[in-house]
Amino acid sequence: MANTITILHLYPREMNLYGDHGNILTLVKRCEWRGIKTKVIEHEPGQALPKKIDIIFGGGGQDSGQNKIEADLKKISPELKKLVENGTPTLVICGLYQLFGKSFTTQDQRVIKGANILNLSTTAGEERLIGNIVIKNNQFGQIVGYENHSGLTTLEDKSQAFGEVISGAGNNGEDQTEGCFYKNCIGTYLHGPILPKNPKVADFLIETALKRQNPKFTKLQELDDSVEKAAHKSAANRPR
Ligand code: GLN
Repeated sequence: MANTITILHLYPREMNLYGDHGNILTLVKRCEWRGIKTKVIEHEPGQALPKKIDIIFGGGGQDSGQNKIEADLKKISPELKKLVENGTPTLVICGLYQLFGKSFTTQDQRVIKGANILNLSTTAGEERLIGNIVIKNNQFGQIVGYENHSGLTTLEDKSQAFGEVISGAGNNGEDQTEGCFYKNCIGTYLHGPILPKNPKVADFLIETALKRQNPKFTKLQELDDSVEKAAHKSAANRPR
């Protein structure tokens, strides 16, 4: 039997848009269905990070929410960076995706400093990019979600995108890139929430966590994903 998987939920109060919290529920349920225990630790500004972290998750937020967490993120960013560099499976959405990069310059020209974990920067554009989005990733296939952001993100140097935009805007509405995939850290604009409708991504996070706990661990038990597949299909067929 696997050890408990400890999930760190970054700033659940300030950073939670369009059902992002559903990603935590998905991780917990998909573990529970397989008899794997989980513990969710919510991190709020001012708290210390726990000693043991198996999965990191953070959602999106308004510019004001991003402002509120800036100082705390600065404090914990060296630890977060170390965890990501060591291969901790991580999922950060929209507002926290932007702040895992170098910085986010808002429409009123305020620069919110990021954790500098992902090699990218973001600047607010004139219009918000809003709507359903479909992307393609080589490992997971088609991924569906919903985006709503003013930020235009540019991947720098050799940063790899999480996916290629099939329909929607993605990082900046121009270069067809969506998100960033670095080591086992996924940064993406996809709300929705992303994990219930894209169970392969959820299982990637869980399986990677288990493999890091026990290098002999090979494969997760299959689940009946018929409902998840139907939800995926219906989201993929929605107009933008
Ligand atoms: N405030 C950021 C932006 O507008 C992030 C929005 C979000 O997380 N949905 O780009």
